Amino acid sequence: MRFRRVARSAPALTLLVTALGAVASAGGGVVVYQAQQRMLAQAVEHRVALIESAVRGETGRYLAALRSVAAAAGAFDTLTAVKFGELAGPLRSAGMPGVTSIAFFVPATDEQVGPVQQQWRQRGAPGLVLHPVGTGREHIFSIFSEPFDGVTAAATGIDVTQAAAPTAALLQARDTGTVAVSDTYQLIRDMRLPPAQRQQSFVLTAPVYAVPDPAAPVPPTGAGPPDADPAHAAGRDDASAFRGWVLMGLRGQDFIGGTLQQITQGSADVTLQAVAADGRLDSVAALEAPSRRARTIRRDVEVTVAQRRWRLHLDIISAGLPGAGPAHVATTGAGLGLTALVAALVAVLATGRRRADARIAAATAQLRAAETEAREQAGLLTAVLDSVSDGVGVVDERGAFLLHNPAAQAMLGVDDRDGPHEWQAHYGLFHADGVTPFPADELPLTRALRGQSSTEVPMVVRNSANPDGIVITVSARPLHPTAGRPGAVAVFHDVTARTAAERQLADATDRLRRELDRRLSAEADLRAARDDLAAQQQYLREVLDTIDVTVVTCGTDGLLVHANRAARAALPDSAGPLDIVAAARQLRFTHPDGSAFTDAETPLARALRGEHVDGVEAHVVHADGTRHVTMLHARPLHGPDGRITGAVASSYSITALREREAELTAFAGIVAHDLKSPLSVITSYTDLLHQDLAERGDTEHADLLDRVLITARRMSRLIDDLLGYAAARDATLSTTPVELGALVEEVVTERLAAAGVPGTPPPQICVGPLPTLHADPALLRQLFDNLIGNAVKYTPPGRPGQVTITAEPHGDGHVRIVVADRGIGIPDGQHDAIFTGFHRAHRAAGYTGTGLGLAICQRVVHRHGGTITATDNPGGGARFTVTLPTTSATEQPTAGAPDARPHHTTTR
Ligand code: ADP
Repeated sequence: MRFRRVARSAPALTLLVTALGAVASAGGGVVVYQAQQRMLAQAVEHRVALIESAVRGETGRYLAALRSVAAAAGAFDTLTAVKFGELAGPLRSAGMPGVTSIAFFVPATDEQVGPVQQQWRQRGAPGLVLHPVGTGREHIFSIFSEPFDGVTAAATGIDVTQAAAPTAALLQARDTGTVAVSDTYQLIRDMRLPPAQRQQSFVLTAPVYAVPDPAAPVPPTGAGPPDADPAHAAGRDDASAFRGWVLMGLRGQDFIGGTLQQITQGSADVTLQAVAADGRLDSVAALEAPSRRARTIRRDVEVTVAQRRWRLHLDIISAGLPGAGPAHVATTGAGLGLTALVAALVAVLATGRRRADARIAAATAQLRAAETEAREQAGLLTAVLDSVSDGVGVVDERGAFLLHNPAAQAMLGVDDRDGPHEWQAHYGLFHADGVTPFPADELPLTRALRGQSSTEVPMVVRNSANPDGIVITVSARPLHPTAGRPGAVAVFHDVTARTAAERQLADATDRLRRELDRRLSAEADLRAARDDLAAQQQYLREVLDTIDVTVVTCGTDGLLVHANRAARAALPDSAGPLDIVAAARQLRFTHPDGSAFTDAETPLARALRGEHVDGVEAHVVHADGTRHVTMLHARPLHGPDGRITGAVASSYSITALREREAELTAFAGIVAHDLKSPLSVITSYTDLLHQDLAERGDTEHADLLDRVLITARRMSRLIDDLLGYAAARDATLSTTPVELGALVEEVVTERLAAAGVPGTPPPQICVGPLPTLHADPALLRQLFDNLIGNAVKYTPPGRPGQVTITAEPHGDGHVRIVVADRGIGIPDGQHDAIFTGFHRAHRAAGYTGTGLGLAICQRVVHRHGGTITATDNPGGGARFTVTLPTTSATEQPTAGAPDARPHHTTTR
């Protein structure tokens, strides 16, 4: 504004001087004097404006630089000492007189001192030691410091709150969210200087926020008063993003001296004072002109710097200024020409010089603005490149790296190597297989230098920095000269983790597919096996249904599982699962002697208890009311672990067999009975005739009759056995307590009496203690007579029989009686067959007999509900084991019966 005013007034002044010279040279002296006074006033104004503009411009430039550093510092995710040095360092060459240092400060409470120190040590200040002053309040520590003047040491760790002036500025900057300037104070180093050399210092500070607000960029230097920027004047709401301060220390004298020396040109003493809040004036700096000439003009100008008012006090030496010549110089005799000349000169000086100054000032401001903008953009670009995780590299047209960001450095790993032909070996670049070297000509950047773009080319980087290799994709584009410089740019994207994850996914998918195939195949096998099983089951079912043997199975719960056709016909109908015990009751199971089966006696119930049931004869009444005699068998069914899972029972009808047997037995009984009396008549008469012939001495005929008698007696025995066989089956069972010991004793006595074979010692028969049984005494006698008779009979010729008869308790309510001998024994494989009627194992050996004795024994035992078996007697001979039921009243044999010594031995 002043420039324009002065510029407008210059022609008027020229005209005025010319007019005055032309119109009245006579009054020239007075007029010239007045003109000189006005020139002087204008010169003073001009000088003052220059000084004010210089101070305002310079402080604005300093503040803009400070803001740039603060904004760039905030743009880093992690501010480190190196990055701060890179931000603040370039200001050294920006021509900023008076700056002693630029430092980064952070706040910390007492508790935070340790963590803060640790945090910043990790960020490039390894020797940082924080020195808090006082307790119970907030401290503000210098973390990084860049000294500027070669005098100030890099002071870090210092708690600035011990200095009131900078502290107040820091707090103000944080509260308002914009730059602040401090009151002046004296540095310690100034205190040590002689008073004449001491300076006042002050600080400029700007808050650092984590995320710069793109809507409120820092205004370029010279674009207006920095503190008039609304975005900054409004302060920051986001206190959480506050990170600290950037602080610029200035020595007032150096600042003002460097700035104003040139502008004042020794024509004024300048004092810069800061106006305190209470109106007090603090001296910032003073510049004294070397001239001793009188200071005749005083001016005070106010300049606002970062919301603070500064006052410029000027004592101007007017003598050196245009128009300041002595008043009497305006002599009337100088003439109009001289006056005009002077006026012209004044005009030229006034307008030309000012126009030039104004252009210079404008150009300078533009330059500074451009420089600031360029720095901000460069800082922003650096911050962005530093913060992105993708690597970026730019090469010139020869392949020399112009820049790369830290991510690119981390991926490629080693120092830049110029020349595409060296890149493969230097950086260790391989195809995606990790083995095949990537041909230099095909590298994306090489192709980009040939003008070809590439997108996401996969490759493996393996070198000393990444010995295990990383997988990256590279996209590259050519840079055209319009971009500033020809060359190429590449973006590197680390896909190691993604590739590994994809591989894991592929592996997992593969595993899943294999597992699925395996399961499908197993399922197919299972289906085939199930179909086979079903077919087999069907086959078995059909086989079972074709036979007339009834087959039923049940589970451990006693419920019927399967019944074949014959069984289904026999069993009663049932709506639900059929219980085998209930079914047995309905079938009315009865023993041959007419007694009913108890529930526990049914074959399936016994098999479920683990017993093997063989050949139990029973009478049953089928569902259709028909009566049958059946032979029952049952077995437990076991699972793979050996545990009982159920039972199977089979039965077949022996009704017809029994009927035929009965008829045959009845017939045999009748025949035997009818043969018995004629035979006894034959025997009696033959015996009489034999005696008669013997008395007469007819031995020849007597021998013939002897043979007849032997045959007749054998026939008589056969008839006896047939009758006994029939009786054993048909005779009514009349049971009574039988003392077995006495009964056996009688049999032994009779046998010994009948066994008188000449030349053969009598048999030894040893009888142990025997119990009392509830049985039919006649049948029991027949049983033991047959067993003992056989034991004595089947001994080798000439050797006496050795027989032992013992008894011992067997299970619940049964006794086991063993008749053992040391005779010729039973041939292999005939131990069961000998119980079949008429089966004789030693026929060829000349032992007489009918083959009916053991069949009679088995009938007797079965009719009493017992069992009989034949085995080899260990040590030689045969052993017959009979189990018979006792009753509760029955006296049991004494303990230790198996090894009992005979208390009664009969030896004849
Ligand atoms: P037998 O009238 O032939 O003795 P059994 O029915 O009593 O008929 O016996 C059948 C067969 O069993 C006999 O012929 C004999 O071969 C054999 N046997 C019976 N008891 C004995 C025994 N104690 N020692 C050896 N064999 C025997």
